[in-house]
Amino acid sequence: MSTIYNQRKKIVVIGSSNTDMTVKAQRLPIPGETILGGTFIMNPGGKGANQAIAAARLGADVTFISKIGNDLFGIQALETYKSEMIKTEYIFTDNQNPSGVALISIDSFGENCIIVAAGANMSLSPQDINKAFNSIKEADVILIQLEIPLDTVEYAVDMAYGLGKKVILKPAPARPLSVKLIKKLYAIVPNRVEAEILTGIKVSDEKSAHKAAQIISRKGVGNVVVTMGKNGAFVKEGDACRWLLAKDVETVDTTGSGDVFCGALSVYLSEGYSLMESVAFANTAAAIAVTRIGAQSAIPFRYEVDIT
Ligand code: ATP
Repeated sequence: MSTIYNQRKKIVVIGSSNTDMTVKAQRLPIPGETILGGTFIMNPGGKGANQAIAAARLGADVTFISKIGNDLFGIQALETYKSEMIKTEYIFTDNQNPSGVALISIDSFGENCIIVAAGANMSLSPQDINKAFNSIKEADVILIQLEIPLDTVEYAVDMAYGLGKKVILKPAPARPLSVKLIKKLYAIVPNRVEAEILTGIKVSDEKSAHKAAQIISRKGVGNVVVTMGKNGAFVKEGDACRWLLAKDVETVDTTGSGDVFCGALSVYLSEGYSLMESVAFANTAAAIAVTRIGAQSAIPFRYEVDIT
């Protein structure tokens, strides 16, 4: 590993913790129907958790601010984070709501249906963010998504901005965002669909990615990175724009590739690399992840990215 433990930069990830429960079946049931499925798989998930694990495996000292229920799923998630060397002192327990779960059905063509019961994630509050003030104050980079209440996101971004911190937002699940929020970000990292929801522009190629990035950037954020799946990422850094191609790899499962990308981007930025260098690192890390099955299980470690 090129980063030894006591030199690790501090990244605070604020976001969701879920348990993904997946059943594969020949086909998806129609409303009112019960069918027999095949394999059942249970995996830890949630964009916040995925990004926290990615940042930790890729070399950062990570504190995860999140909320779980007082149940077995919560206990299991906490154990996972500890085993990944993530600091868990600001993972709060909600005694009223269960831990977040995602119920996923997948048919033989890979088509899926997902219902997320956000549970405790939706009670992560501005008061919780206040309790974690000291870790936010010490952070090199803050990474946040939208699977928690928007007022908590706004509060956390406001606090981090006031402390002069670099805040990176993955605007997923996509929703319209206020200029007041966007202005306080160091970088925003939408995928094509999220970029379309933020701008109304259908993003399919370099021209449309450029246009969408320009519109987002005009709302007050200097750095916009539009991830484009197997095509890599379009980067707008101030007036400089560049398309950074993805690595050509044999794709097995792209689940969670956006989270690996964001975790990796944050790690490299925290280490002082430029935005373009950080996007290149993120492309490499995410390309490794898509060659493996699963979301968290596919996240690479730093040494794997460094030798690629
Ligand atoms: P997800 O929702 O699956 O987590 P996303 O839609 O947020 O992902 P994408 O734009 O699909 O994000 O992918 C993120 C990054 O992952 C891309 O910018 C690229 O670096 C990498 N990536 C995704 N798919 C591939 C692929 N097939 N081959 C190589 N790299 C890929």
